[in-house]
Amino acid sequence: MILAVSKIKNPPPQPVGYRGRFAPSPTGPLHAGSLVAALGSWLDAQKNGGQWLLRIEDLDTPRCVTGADQQIQAQLLACGLAWDEKVTWQSERQAGYQKAFEKLNSIQLMYPCTCSRQTIASTLSQMGIQTPRNQEMAYPASCRPEQFITYSAEDLNNTKLTWRLALPPDCNMTFVDEALGVQSQQLNTQVGDFVIRRNDGLFTYQLAVVVDDAQQGITHIVRGEDLLSNTGRQIYLQKVLGYHTPQYLHLPLVLDEHGEKLSKQTLATPIQTQNAREALAELRKAAKYLGLRNLPDGENITIAEWLLAATHAWGKN
Ligand code: GLU
Ligand code: ZN
Repeated sequence: MILAVSKIKNPPPQPVGYRGRFAPSPTGPLHAGSLVAALGSWLDAQKNGGQWLLRIEDLDTPRCVTGADQQIQAQLLACGLAWDEKVTWQSERQAGYQKAFEKLNSIQLMYPCTCSRQTIASTLSQMGIQTPRNQEMAYPASCRPEQFITYSAEDLNNTKLTWRLALPPDCNMTFVDEALGVQSQQLNTQVGDFVIRRNDGLFTYQLAVVVDDAQQGITHIVRGEDLLSNTGRQIYLQKVLGYHTPQYLHLPLVLDEHGEKLSKQTLATPIQTQNAREALAELRKAAKYLGLRNLPDGENITIAEWLLAATHAWGKN
């Protein structure tokens, strides 16, 4: 795979020490599934004597719910999951995404696309490619130009275009997940040239998360396994932008007591944190999903004491 890394000037410095984060989208209050990600990433940071940052991913404004960011912070604090440094909001970090976008343009790695979802679907079906319902369609490169160029500022400002990143052939991304072991993804066939700015002018999650993780010096990403299919794209973006690749740990899917995947319904119910007793009960549920064992189960324990015991248990699960 040929990467354009050598053209990158002044990448962010290599981060030092452990820096983790929790990056919820404020689409509603925390639910059981997001608490598992919050607790897992918090425990991993504590165990490693690291920093744990809170970043509100309010980029996809149409999906954001007013006040959810405040609710999330209150729920985390009620659970004793305090963060280091100031909370950041993606909506305030547009300049960084724009800079990365321009960089990708200057190294001639992107191109505009005018396809609708429907065009993509019909092109794929004409090619005889079936995409299972729950899977993303791999973009068939319909708009990919023969020759890559640096587009003008006027083109870049045209918010009616979708901008895609051009993948090199055989773009196979492999990484070692701390929980799941070796993971690999063939980006060309499984994803295709992916979107970095949408045709409503919004930068995508893929671009924003990579820019933020680099700018915040994140060294360890602990998050739910539902995000695993994004990691290949993110590592590829890190490489072309000259960023350091953090260590990944995807938390195995939340299972119920019968070993079944929890339904969306169960996962989406907001956690109850009106008082310490409720918060502790939610933490205990989350710890069970994380497979933590030998935690104190009495009622006469403070959240801080319980969290300390959980930190000791982390890594032995
Ligand atoms: N904001 C994403 C979500 O809530 C998580 C991003 C990440 O952890 O990389 O699904
Ligand atoms: Zn297109």
